[in-house]
Amino acid sequence: MKRRTRTAGLIGALGLGVILATGAIFLAGRDRSAVDWRSLRAVAFESDDWGLAGFLPDAQALSGLDRDALAPGRFPDVYWGSTLEDSAQVGALTRVLAAAARGRDGLPPVWQPNYVMGSLSWEDGARGGRWIRYDWPEFSPRYVRPGLPEAVDQAIGMGLWYPEYHAFTHYDPLRRIESVASMGIAAEAARRGIMLFPGSEGARELGPWRSRAELEAELDAGLARFASAFGRPVGSIIAPDYTWDRRCESLWVSRGVRVIQAKREQRYVGREWGTVARIRKLVDQRLDRILFPGRVYLERNCRFEPVQFPDPGAVALRCAQEVKRAWAAGSPAVVESHRINFVHTDPRVIRAGLEALEDLLAELDGPGDLAPIYLTDIEIAGLMRNGTSSCVRGPWLVLRNGTRSGRILAVDPGNAGERERQAGEEPPGSRFFLVPAGAVLLIPR
Ligand SMILES: [Zn+2]
Repeated sequence: MKRRTRTAGLIGALGLGVILATGAIFLAGRDRSAVDWRSLRAVAFESDDWGLAGFLPDAQALSGLDRDALAPGRFPDVYWGSTLEDSAQVGALTRVLAAAARGRDGLPPVWQPNYVMGSLSWEDGARGGRWIRYDWPEFSPRYVRPGLPEAVDQAIGMGLWYPEYHAFTHYDPLRRIESVASMGIAAEAARRGIMLFPGSEGARELGPWRSRAELEAELDAGLARFASAFGRPVGSIIAPDYTWDRRCESLWVSRGVRVIQAKREQRYVGREWGTVARIRKLVDQRLDRILFPGRVYLERNCRFEPVQFPDPGAVALRCAQEVKRAWAAGSPAVVESHRINFVHTDPRVIRAGLEALEDLLAELDGPGDLAPIYLTDIEIAGLMRNGTSSCVRGPWLVLRNGTRSGRILAVDPGNAGERERQAGEEPPGSRFFLVPAGAVLLIPR
């Protein structure tokens, strides 16, 4: 009897220990921020899939092809009209941003397109077909979009477009190559410039089956292309299909990318759904936050996918509420909105997406201190970590101090001087600025 009581006591103590340890992990892994997000009313837009040469080159590509036989996997129906953006679509989206009410700091809403930097194209030649790789802004003849890089440069120059990194090709290239080599319909799709192939949805670019060497080579190629195309290094990253593992994160950090989008959405290949998987995911995510305090994990707390719903206007209203909920909870609002909402083979879809964005921006506006400020990921990350940020947004170098005391900011020439460095010119040295408490300085470039 006595022994049983002692055993029960021991088990009870062990159980309590596990509960306390788990509690400690959860408390220690919580986000802390150097600024008060409640009063800042910050909004960031993160938009995946820009630069993706897919799913189709144009509306005619699918004609006569059996979609069911192609069996790419599951995705929302509207994606059957997904295509590479053109200059007019980039122009239309940036016009909506430019026409919206400015933020409290005087700056317009800024769009963060997360870019896919490469594409594979199957091209027939005199001696049979072959695979050709194109890197942004080059595309296969099926995906030629005249004036696209110029439209993007113009949008960047206006401070409306702030590219970040999404993927190299968005899928495991070997799986596509094998599929096209072995299956009739996959080969036909590839010949038409269609990016989909049987099982393509599961062919995650950063799947755990891929070797570290492959991932490293693709990342290096993608980051190098990004820096030369956009004149600065990548600041923030989102894994394709929300699928990545610890190897990927450590590779990103080793290349200087410490801001990671959508941590809460992270998917782990091969794990079953259910309570155990959910708890494992929670523990993994908390552990990452404890083990890697130098990384900034940004959460998407508003889903803005109007063209997937029958009433896009209602999606805009719901998203505005989600933004306000994020502020009330003491977080920046991170709005995710995929390219599909603004780029589609059907112009009616594009119109619906743009109108919903206009509605959303109008809903977010407010008088005086109730107006939002529109931030980039790296500004949010800087404010979270240090209470300050610096970011080149079009014509401005934007310096922010969200703390209660004046700060001297040294501006990183790696951000401001990348273009000069690549042009073979001497980058300017670090510049120092005194930013008063709570102030935003806009310095002309
Ligand atoms: Zn994507």
